[in-house]
Amino acid sequence: MPKFDVIVLGAGAAGLMCALKAGQKGLSVLVLEKSNKPGKKILMSGGGRCNFTNQYAMPENYLSNNPHFCKSAMSQYTVWDFIAMVEKHGIPYHEKELGQLFCDRSSKDILNMLLDECDRAGVKIITACETQTVDIQDEGVGLLTDVSAFSAKNLVVATGGLSIPKMGGSGFGYQLAEQLGLDVLPKRAGLVPFIFSDSHKDLFASLSGTSVLASLTANGQTFTHQVLFTHRGLSGPAVLQISSYWDLGQPLRVDWMPDVDVGEALIKAKETSSKQALLQWLTQQWPNKLAEAWLKHQFPEVLDKSLQQLSKAQCLTLADAINRCQLKPAGTEGYRTAEVTLGGVNTDALSSKTMAVKTQPNVFFIGEVVDVTGHLGGFNFQWAWASAHATANALCLEK
Ligand SMILES: Cc1cc2nc3c(=O)[nH]c(=O)nc-3n(C[C@H](O)[C@H](O)[C@H](O)COP(=O)(O)OP(=O)(O)OC[C@H]3O[C@@H](n4cnc5c(N)ncnc54)[C@H](O)[C@@H]3O)c2cc1C
Repeated sequence: MPKFDVIVLGAGAAGLMCALKAGQKGLSVLVLEKSNKPGKKILMSGGGRCNFTNQYAMPENYLSNNPHFCKSAMSQYTVWDFIAMVEKHGIPYHEKELGQLFCDRSSKDILNMLLDECDRAGVKIITACETQTVDIQDEGVGLLTDVSAFSAKNLVVATGGLSIPKMGGSGFGYQLAEQLGLDVLPKRAGLVPFIFSDSHKDLFASLSGTSVLASLTANGQTFTHQVLFTHRGLSGPAVLQISSYWDLGQPLRVDWMPDVDVGEALIKAKETSSKQALLQWLTQQWPNKLAEAWLKHQFPEVLDKSLQQLSKAQCLTLADAINRCQLKPAGTEGYRTAEVTLGGVNTDALSSKTMAVKTQPNVFFIGEVVDVTGHLGGFNFQWAWASAHATANALCLEK
């Protein structure tokens, strides 16, 4: 039975980073990947351009039962450490907005960089390898797979979350945690579009492809960014962000014109340009298609009215519907399209410095399988890199 220093389960962002860092320190590393190719999620990330980190990554950008847990790993391996590796490989990149760094060319650049570093560090990667059983002892770990049996001193679980099962999303890491008697916190889809089944569904479907700036609030958290109307409901950055904070059955508060106090603005416009049509006033703030469809759907009785024909009460009703709209999503699109899985291995069971299981120090959980989930914008990859590095660092110290 081959004996490695480390077996890493999962050749995604966290697994490859941990493998290359451990390999660079001279450890023998085997990566076992269930899919036929490594790094499938990296390839599809950031619309094919991989938003590989965020210049402003802070612990506040992460959701976790223990909001302090991510701090140690994030300070051991910063955004600038990852950028240095990207630059060393001559990968061209740019800031899209809000500190989000994307490849100029393609996500392939990031995956190739990780694979190249793994190769140079002598890391062995086996793909299309299903693990059947994992035997964990203090002296080492034995894995029985459909390829062969393997053993190592340490096991790193980097199997990711449940999102996008077609891209390798699996519950294997959670099962392993439970096998070790660890607590796994309830999981749900995050960074995911909303679906609607009430009367808003038809309105949103008719606007499919249109987007508008809006402020979305749920559970005391607000995000202001673009909202994209879809055939099934709402998507776009503001929606994906707030979905991680929203619970099923809860209302979603939307301000469809976050930069305008609509009540005040309408009453003022009534005085200064009273002949203007309400619809025309709306099109000064919104795309034409949205203004017309929204008015037809929500307030057909004032569709053809001019501002002077509106009563003050009507102005305030319109203002409420625009600035203080309450929506009831029927749910989310779920793991089929979610970018991440919220919840997962309870951080109480892990060392925040090394990600080792406190009761089984030769087993480590890193990346998305852990109950640390980032906002949209490169934060999830930064967690994958940082948690992987924390483990690799600890493995090397143990040699
Ligand atoms: C469409 C999409 C776009 C995204 N875009 C971004 C972005 O631009 N920026 C960002 O920061 N985040 C993005 N994310 C989130 C990001 O991809 C994840 O947070 C990140 O990949 C998590 O890394 P990981 O290594 O923990 O898990 P993964 O990257 O999911 O890797 C886990 C690996 O483990 C393998 N695996 C699963 N089970 C087993 C098993 N039993 N045995 C062996 N291997 C197994 C999987 O096949 C997979 O290769 C995106 C996610 C999606 C779905």
